[in-house]
Amino acid sequence: MCAQNTTSADQALVRELNLSLVLRYIHNEAPVSRAQIAHATGLNKSTVSSLVEDLLKRQLVHETGINSMGTGRPATLLEINPQAGGIVGAELGVGFIAVVLTDFTGNIIWRQLANVDPSNAQEKTISQILELTDEAIEVCKEKNLYPLGLGISMPGTVDLGKGVLVFAPNLQWRNVPFRKIFSEHTGLNIYVENDANAAAIAEHLFGAARRSEDFIFVVVGIGIGSGLFLNGKLYRGKDGFAGEIGHTPIIAEPYQILCHCGNRGCWETYANQLAIIRRVQTRLEDKRESIIPSLLAKHNTPLSISMVKQAADEGDEMVLESLTEAGTALGLGFASLIDIFNPEKIILGGSLSIVGKYLLPSIKETAAKHSLSDINPKVDILLSDFETDAVLIGAVSIVVDDILSNPTHAERR
Ligand SMILES: [Zn+2]
Repeated sequence: MCAQNTTSADQALVRELNLSLVLRYIHNEAPVSRAQIAHATGLNKSTVSSLVEDLLKRQLVHETGINSMGTGRPATLLEINPQAGGIVGAELGVGFIAVVLTDFTGNIIWRQLANVDPSNAQEKTISQILELTDEAIEVCKEKNLYPLGLGISMPGTVDLGKGVLVFAPNLQWRNVPFRKIFSEHTGLNIYVENDANAAAIAEHLFGAARRSEDFIFVVVGIGIGSGLFLNGKLYRGKDGFAGEIGHTPIIAEPYQILCHCGNRGCWETYANQLAIIRRVQTRLEDKRESIIPSLLAKHNTPLSISMVKQAADEGDEMVLESLTEAGTALGLGFASLIDIFNPEKIILGGSLSIVGKYLLPSIKETAAKHSLSDINPKVDILLSDFETDAVLIGAVSIVVDDILSNPTHAERR
């Protein structure tokens, strides 16, 4: 009896693995025929047919047309079904929250962003996210899409198994049971992930790193973090802290700027959002000619990155110089990443990507100068396709990624 149970459990596991193999292949290579799937996966044709039937029944894939090219028999082609369901993604940022509803292929149907005061009570911010996710779920139902899950990305370390935010340094939040809170409120399957890791998954599923097995996503905003995608999967380290590259020291001297982590000399203090603002401010104090003073007077707000972008777009030399300097500081960190990990690509995203095109040339130049010449020419350094949305689309992607790995999780209840 016991042996029999084990066997059927094993069979169910093998079936799930094969379903996932076929679903991922369709996701990556669509449109594809059943014969192509069999050829690529090594599964026999009748197994593939039965697995595809299963995926069709679950509405995860659909038939998209006939391929009559070539000499063989015309074949029905398959692709991921965008209408497989709706996915809600939520980004807990520093100073803002964002919520999005997408279809199963990541197309945005609805989105909302709200600024929040980082000094607000935790409960208040969480209830704001809940309000927005409620709205998203409502829209999902109006569109007749089955809600497949809710993903939340956050700026800190997470316990994936328990669905808990362990520590977010920039918010000073500790041990927040996100899965419990959101699952009790929404009844959906809840997924949580660190922001940079979520963005890396987004790039792998839908963005610039499709089919890439070794790449690094660098998220730059208030801080600098990274998602290390190595050997075809995220590398998390022993305790899940891997990728906190912003706090790697670049010589720590007492006169250097204090990082919010409490140390001095952290890489991000030279290259994050604040570092750019500071570089511009120093030049203003030096009475450099610029349109920034008139922008400050016009907007009557403190100097922001969007103002820096506006000045750069208008060719403001002092601002362009500040951005080149910040790009150089970023490039030094990129050089280390290249030498340590030998990645195929490094993708830059996060709120600083709005000035990404001004940073990229000096990042590339510095990274090339300071990394081993045998490795560097092979590394592609580029901006995220999602720009400032990478982490938000990341929240959606962790749900999609789980369903691609475990197609039975998309069970309609
Ligand atoms: Zn630090």
